[in-house]
Amino acid sequence: MSVLRPREAIEEIEASTLAPYAQRSAAGRGRLHPQDAHHWRTEYQRDVSRIIHSAAFRRLEYKTQVFLNGTGDHYRTRLTHTMEVASISRTLARALGLNEDLAEAVALAHDLGHSPFGHSGEETLDRLLKDHGGFDHNDQSLRVVTLLESPYDEFDGLNLTFEVLEGVQKHASERSAPGIGSYACASLEGQIADLADEIAYYSHDLQDGLEAGLILAGSLHQVELCAMLAAEHGLDLDTAEARSTRHNLARILSNRLIHGVLTESAGRIAASGVQSADDVRRHPDLLIGYSPSLEEQTKELRSFLYANLYFHPQVAGANQRACDMMAAVFGAYLQDPRRIGREATRRVPNCGLYRAAGDYIAGMTDRYLLREHGRIFSHA
Ligand code: MG
Repeated sequence: MSVLRPREAIEEIEASTLAPYAQRSAAGRGRLHPQDAHHWRTEYQRDVSRIIHSAAFRRLEYKTQVFLNGTGDHYRTRLTHTMEVASISRTLARALGLNEDLAEAVALAHDLGHSPFGHSGEETLDRLLKDHGGFDHNDQSLRVVTLLESPYDEFDGLNLTFEVLEGVQKHASERSAPGIGSYACASLEGQIADLADEIAYYSHDLQDGLEAGLILAGSLHQVELCAMLAAEHGLDLDTAEARSTRHNLARILSNRLIHGVLTESAGRIAASGVQSADDVRRHPDLLIGYSPSLEEQTKELRSFLYANLYFHPQVAGANQRACDMMAAVFGAYLQDPRRIGREATRRVPNCGLYRAAGDYIAGMTDRYLLREHGRIFSHA
């Protein structure tokens, strides 16, 4: 007997080990453009590969998470953030008996549409496109995988499965998601990737903020969740500037959030009585989530991070200068559309110059945009 496991064997293992409400790859709705099944991989494994091998994924390495890309080699980038989200997604999915490959695929794709320069870049693009549909990174992630990435001759997009698109869709508007259909909720795997994103950035943005010296550990006394965890684990926040403490705090925080999500979600799933992945979709409420008390605590942490990190003058100032360059480059494209790339030019007849220029800029890495600004505006 062969020791190799063809796809059918892997699907059988899935069917016998996953919880009934997990999304089985063999029970998926397929792809917009039908393709033959792969010999060794399930459909979600294929989607993971398609995403990882896309140019948009590789560019995440040079896109800002919080700190402008290149300002410090130890800070998270959009790529390392994405890998942390995928890792947390797999942990949550495995513990709940869900499909890890699907959760991982959604996590890997979730930020593909992020513009350069993080949230400031997103706000800038939204402003530049305000009379042309605006800009939202969730919408854009869907646009990247369904249109902008085009490795195939026969069609645009990565032709991902319905279930991965459904997970990426998240809050994306109908405008960007024709044909996906509307359900009350995404699969549990999609819900997991959404929450894993939050867990990752709460803990790693806090750690990066402490590393950068923009957040002082002593100020975390005012954040109930941090103060509580520090007390439980014997961390003295007032003398907590040591590197090990920063690591410990991030680790303890993500552990707590993961643990909290698992226990709360397990309870909600059991109480809901869902028996299939489609029961989950029809269920009126999300089944993956924090307990009400943990939800309150994470909201407080979020507000703290907004007030003390994301809008810290040192972060916001650098990002603002970069965003001014983004706006200038955008203006230059409107003035002379020949400057936008060949692929973007091809899309102008369908989506107009504003959207094509927005897509082109959204796809850029931080450093590419800075160089493009130099090319256009240095008249030396
Ligand atoms: Mg994210």
